[in-house]
Amino acid sequence: MTTFLISGASVAGPALAYWLQRFSHTATVIEKAPAPRPGGYAVDFRGASLDVLDRMGLRAAVEARATRMGGMDYVNESGKVVARTSETAFSGELEVLRGDLVEILYDATRDGVEYVFSDSITRLSEDADGVLVEFERGAPRRFDLVIGADGLHSTVRRLAFGPEQDFRHDLGYAVSVATVPNHLDLDHTGRLLSLPGKTVGAYSARGNTEAKALFYFATDTSKASKSPAVDRRDTAAQRQLVEDTFTGIGWEVPRLLSELRVADDFYFDSISQIKLDSYSRGRIALVGDAGYCASPLSGMGTSLGIVGAYVLAGELQAALTDAKDRRADDVAHRPGSTPAAAHLRAFAAYDAVMRPFVAACQKQAVDGARWFIPGSRAFLALRNLTFRLMPYLPWRKLIDELPLKVGNAVELKQYEARRPLPAVPPR
Ligand SMILES: Cc1cc2nc3c(=O)[nH]c(=O)nc-3n(C[C@H](O)[C@H](O)[C@H](O)COP(=O)(O)OP(=O)(O)OC[C@H]3O[C@@H](n4cnc5c(N)ncnc54)[C@H](O)[C@@H]3O)c2cc1C
Repeated sequence: MTTFLISGASVAGPALAYWLQRFSHTATVIEKAPAPRPGGYAVDFRGASLDVLDRMGLRAAVEARATRMGGMDYVNESGKVVARTSETAFSGELEVLRGDLVEILYDATRDGVEYVFSDSITRLSEDADGVLVEFERGAPRRFDLVIGADGLHSTVRRLAFGPEQDFRHDLGYAVSVATVPNHLDLDHTGRLLSLPGKTVGAYSARGNTEAKALFYFATDTSKASKSPAVDRRDTAAQRQLVEDTFTGIGWEVPRLLSELRVADDFYFDSISQIKLDSYSRGRIALVGDAGYCASPLSGMGTSLGIVGAYVLAGELQAALTDAKDRRADDVAHRPGSTPAAAHLRAFAAYDAVMRPFVAACQKQAVDGARWFIPGSRAFLALRNLTFRLMPYLPWRKLIDELPLKVGNAVELKQYEARRPLPAVPPR
């Protein structure tokens, strides 16, 4: 039995723990937050990630909490609808609030996986037999393999691969999201206003009882850096930056800004991607946003995390089983047949399967950015016109199916699970 430490209990971490548990491995998940993080924005499933949900036996649980969003309206500063988008463009094939998904994954794993909250890894020392891990609070422990599922600003990546700036590619935009009252009476829909370099609006959530306000904007393009000019940990400065960027805009923006000021789940980050030559180093690997964040503009972050967890666990299972069989056949300790080499083979196979999928998702974010946050009045007018004409365009289906094509840009193998599907206790 191989022992795993996974850093991060959001989407990719618990999804990986789920599969490791089904493959009869021992997984410990460490999370810096005191509990699974509730709340959050809507996240989408497209293509292959739905197959993985099926294989996990969790599709019904996710569907029971689906947001069931319709299309979104674009309005002008007077609130007049100027364009409309289809439901799949924003919500994928299945959409759920991130906090709900985290809860479902946690419920499906909590009995067979050790969860350690309110702690973080501070040091990783790898040797021939495993990794000695030191923590902020807990005593040091040894594991066979360590996986970073700790998001865009991953600590495991920093400790094992190097500083974040070596791998983070800022796309030149920032995003802020917060839960606000549903003043616009949105009914399973959203309304957005775009101005050059800015898109702001809200969509309804939790059966229309609340709304999520979003503020997307281009960072200062007059500077060489594409990063927002605020510290990642300075929430006051981030709130001020959003305020400064959107003050003076009409429609519902003043009200959304005043609600953002008092929101207790204010979220802010740069729109960034992570690019690495390899998703692993020795006995340490990365999954989800930590290894290959495509950014919220891809609409594929959750799908990448769910698929990545499945492929990583599956390739490990295949390689470890193969190594064990080879030893049993008495080809003992032939180079390449030891468990130590098995994880290297697994990591290489995981890399090979995921890399083209990651590239497609990351490209989708870059292509989508100029449509979602148009840079000029001329392009904004062209975008709105295109959306207005869309229902009449003969190639409409092709455009609608593009995100689905990206969602299916990975081939899923069938990996052998040792344990049956765990029952998910209803909440
Ligand atoms: C504003 C916004 C909108 C989005 N919209 C969509 C969308 O519409 N569709 C979509 O598919 N995706 C969307 N995403 C992306 C999606 O949320 C992520 O891509 C997805 O959750 C990736 O999951 P993850 O588990 O890899 O990382 P994360 O969800 O970032 O989770 C990382 C976890 O690691 C924990 N952690 C961090 N550091 C440490 C540490 N040092 N020690 C221990 N734990 C640590 C964090 O607390 C967190 O729980 C959006 C993201 C954002 C920011």
